Amino acid sequence: MMTLRTAASEVLKAVPRLPLLAGPTPLHRAPRLAGELDLAELWLKRDDLISFGFGGNKVRGLELIMADALKHGADTLVTGAGPLSNHVRACATAAARHGMSCNVVYWGSPPPGPRQGNLRLVELLGATVRFTGSADRESVDAMIEAEANRVGANGGRPYVIPRGGACPHGVLGHVAAVREFLAQASALGCRPDVVLLAVGSGGTLAGWLLGSRLFNAPWRVEGVTVSRPQAEAAEQVTRLAAAAAERFGIDATVGERDVIIHDGFIGGGYGIPTPEGNAAIALMARREGVFLDPTYTGKAFAALMHLAREGRFRRDRAVAFVHTGGAPTLFVDPEAAR
Ligand SMILES: *Cc1c(COP(=O)(O)O)cnc(C)c1O
Repeated sequence: MMTLRTAASEVLKAVPRLPLLAGPTPLHRAPRLAGELDLAELWLKRDDLISFGFGGNKVRGLELIMADALKHGADTLVTGAGPLSNHVRACATAAARHGMSCNVVYWGSPPPGPRQGNLRLVELLGATVRFTGSADRESVDAMIEAEANRVGANGGRPYVIPRGGACPHGVLGHVAAVREFLAQASALGCRPDVVLLAVGSGGTLAGWLLGSRLFNAPWRVEGVTVSRPQAEAAEQVTRLAAAAAERFGIDATVGERDVIIHDGFIGGGYGIPTPEGNAAIALMARREGVFLDPTYTGKAFAALMHLAREGRFRRDRAVAFVHTGGAPTLFVDPEAAR
């Protein structure tokens, strides 16, 4: 087991990382909520409190993505997603901090009315924003390529970051999160049976699965899809884990059977709030004074509540929830967010 761990740390040491996190994010108990849900212990890993540009899980992947961009001498980040995207906000923050341009491609059309939430922050950060005019999310990918070509033709040095930061470097940032969590959990006596987190583009779960395997962690990691159907999400996670393992020579594999993703909490679609998600947000706020978000963590925590009430967690073991951020979306009128 020792050699496994040593090899694992070597992987993380070998790949350059631009420090954007100020240190480990807090891990703490949520005792009032645990009582309410009849759980032995509930722990929250607070990646929402990453102190960089309103934080969130995307900053972890960006530490490695940004190091790679700087290594390539890039002067412009080109990325995209929907206007609610936390990933885009994290990219625009990193670009601002490092004197780079950030060119953003959003699906759909500009929302009516004043700018809200992440879109407002992205414009404030000075990013250049374009809309594809199509509600099809994949319309973003082609326009990102075109945008990168345009930047290059004008003498710039573009660096493309795929939607959600779902690429091998991004995944490795979440492998590093597992190492951080392991040390912290062991110091605090947090011994979760299950670690639960929200799944969008899949890079976060891929990294947590790969990292947990690599470091031989004593828990099961489970995801809750908030975007794609379960099978599609699982396939994407498996593919991302394999790509990261291959890219960085990680001696661990994530098989399709290791990927546990709960479905049934998306509601009307990605980014559309659900009554269960809103109830989870309210309960978390009222019992713990912690703010979840309507797009990701509210829906994922609704799944945790559902599983707890169904008795799907062991009564004698802890459950940990990764709070991946997203709070700026609390300040978006749902009607304007479509
Ligand atoms: C992007 C995001 C997730 C999901 O991460 P993926 O790597 O895209 O699966 C979860 N929570 C929040 C707040 C996010 O912004």
